[in-house]
Amino acid sequence: MNKRQPNALQKMGLNSPAALALHLPVRYEDETQLWTISDALKQGRFQTVQTQGLVIRSQIAFRPKRQLIVTIEDDGAQLQMRWLHFYPSQQKQMAVGAHLRVRGDIRDGYAGPEMVHPNVRALEPNAPLPKSLTPVYAASVGVSQTVIRKAVSLALQDSSMKTWLAEILPRQLIQTALPEMEVMSLHDAVMYLHHPPANANTQQLLERTHAAWRRVQFEELLAQQISLKRAHSVRRGRRAPPFKKKKTASQTKPLSEKLLDSLPFELTGAQKRVWQEIDVDMNHSHPMNRLLQGDVGSGKTVIAALAAAKVIDGGFQVAIMAPTEILAEQHYLKLREWFEPLGVKMAWIAGSLKAKDKKMAQEQIESGAARLIIGTHAIIQEAVRFSGLGLAVIDEQHRFGVRQRLEIQQRVGSETFYCHQLMMTATPIPRTLSMTYYADLDSSVIDELPPGRKPIQTKIVKDARRAEIIAGLRDWLNQGQQAYWVCPLIEESEALQLQTAVDSHAELSEILTEFKVGLIHGRLKSEEKTQLMTDFKGGHIHLLVATTVIEVGVDVANASLMVIEHAERFGYAQIHQLRGRVGRGSADSVCILLYSEPLSLAAKERLQTLREVSDGFVIAERDLALRGPGELLGAKQSGDTMLRFVDLQRDAWLIEAAQTVSEQLLAEYPDLVQAHLARWIGSRTEFLKA
Ligand code: ADP
Ligand code: MG
Repeated sequence: MNKRQPNALQKMGLNSPAALALHLPVRYEDETQLWTISDALKQGRFQTVQTQGLVIRSQIAFRPKRQLIVTIEDDGAQLQMRWLHFYPSQQKQMAVGAHLRVRGDIRDGYAGPEMVHPNVRALEPNAPLPKSLTPVYAASVGVSQTVIRKAVSLALQDSSMKTWLAEILPRQLIQTALPEMEVMSLHDAVMYLHHPPANANTQQLLERTHAAWRRVQFEELLAQQISLKRAHSVRRGRRAPPFKKKKTASQTKPLSEKLLDSLPFELTGAQKRVWQEIDVDMNHSHPMNRLLQGDVGSGKTVIAALAAAKVIDGGFQVAIMAPTEILAEQHYLKLREWFEPLGVKMAWIAGSLKAKDKKMAQEQIESGAARLIIGTHAIIQEAVRFSGLGLAVIDEQHRFGVRQRLEIQQRVGSETFYCHQLMMTATPIPRTLSMTYYADLDSSVIDELPPGRKPIQTKIVKDARRAEIIAGLRDWLNQGQQAYWVCPLIEESEALQLQTAVDSHAELSEILTEFKVGLIHGRLKSEEKTQLMTDFKGGHIHLLVATTVIEVGVDVANASLMVIEHAERFGYAQIHQLRGRVGRGSADSVCILLYSEPLSLAAKERLQTLREVSDGFVIAERDLALRGPGELLGAKQSGDTMLRFVDLQRDAWLIEAAQTVSEQLLAEYPDLVQAHLARWIGSRTEFLKA
């Protein structure tokens, strides 16, 4: 082994026998069978075959590229093999007279049937065949299968392994969860997965539905369920400021009621219900940890404002954090409209703030002069210290990581108190996710849009009909409505050949001369962005050409048409969020998805689904099936997903079983729980503290 390899394995996180044992194969190669060369020539067209023979020719040819051609012979039959890339060492290994065992597929080459780049080993003709399938492991670049296989094999033989894989869980508990199959012991399951016998059911192994996989998956799920439940009870044991109404206090109305009175609208039934849930939660002296889900436009902001009012009334500060400066600023402007008349002092914190202003804001926050603090993640990045933070609201929470939620707890300004947390998302959490990664959060759902909203009509249009669309856009603007034109990229990118926002802006300004066309994108200074949004909101800009900076939260009621260029390049959730920017007023709203040919089958299906489905939950399910949970969990979190072997779609039933068994285990076998967690979660527990 050369010196670099142990390092490479460690970089992959394979730094202990335990980690290696759980580095389970992604697939297998069948080296347990040997074909004669003449059989291999026939069978090798349908499947990968292994055969062997003596090298009778080995030459470098130029046809026209330099290549190595080696022929082996056995029993009168010959097999030609070809390498377009090879090392001198390979050439040496395959010199005339060597005996080779080779594995590959047969295809028709320049001079008849051949194998291109087969796997080759120099082995004696009677060298024994392996009795088990050969594992293929996930590996990073530069780490060979040979190295990983050797390391895993050594780990499995390590003296610690018997103990490490010893049974912890009572068998009958697992049997309840997996009633259909014979339960394997964990040790047997792991051994089996690394080296399945030649006759193993390879389809079940590949699909990860084999009893051995089930055992490992169940262990993993159980650990996750248990740790979520424990995190939940740990949180229950913490203290947070309770905000019960004090009956004896002055006769003045609570701030939240004053706010409600000042609003130009009534809460919807769904809003009333979730506000009630949150209201009650914050009466408790343990921290609220609640996820507020509601489709785009369902009115989450006002709920956050009501929660803020309650906490401010109770003498504590509130921080509202949004993932982009545009969104944070919209919140700031809206909440200032609501809170300033009520005499609540606010502060604004964002990365772009001038040093002097930032310092001033920080001082106001630290002294407690500022009661409601709004901003981006700069709130936790900058040296912000609260005098007493009672509530943190995190909008579009999946854009933040768990670490950032931990961060905010450290700035609360009290050693003894935790703050309440309200997380908001317009991306609904599919059931399987809410049963796993989100299981320790309480959940509130706004499942009703404010009255008067009309459904957004979504149309799919080929880019070739662009001129027609622009003509329609002109009619639209002529009726006094406003519109968005969304483009995926801002600068020329030859590779993608996307039409740019800059180009589209130029084109649209030239055609729609009678209208004011604005351009907003991520590279603009934040004052420029603010100015643009203010102008658009005020109706001074009629058409806003934008990149996805407007993806979340932007709220301009008079904008009722959206054209999305190259819609085929966007994902489900992105388009759903984007089109939620229209349909906020009472006018009929339309979203036009422009696409360019050729359209992949997946993109076509996606666009059609988006046209037909407006329910965010359905879209989120499709998204999850397509992209896995990483995206929904947030970029920062996905690298740390605790479920390595479980597929949330495929194994949904197993999640339910694990949920039940975890409760039983916690109630009846508390000491086993500890051992089980140590094995499966180890050092990753900090992510559960958020
Ligand atoms: P989101 O849930 O996407 O964050 P917002 O909070 O931005 O939605 O609300 C969208 C728009 O609907 C805002 O203009 C808001 O003032 C308005 N709104 C919220 N609740 C109601 C309601 N009950 N009746 C009428 N309009 C409402
Ligand atoms: Mg919002």
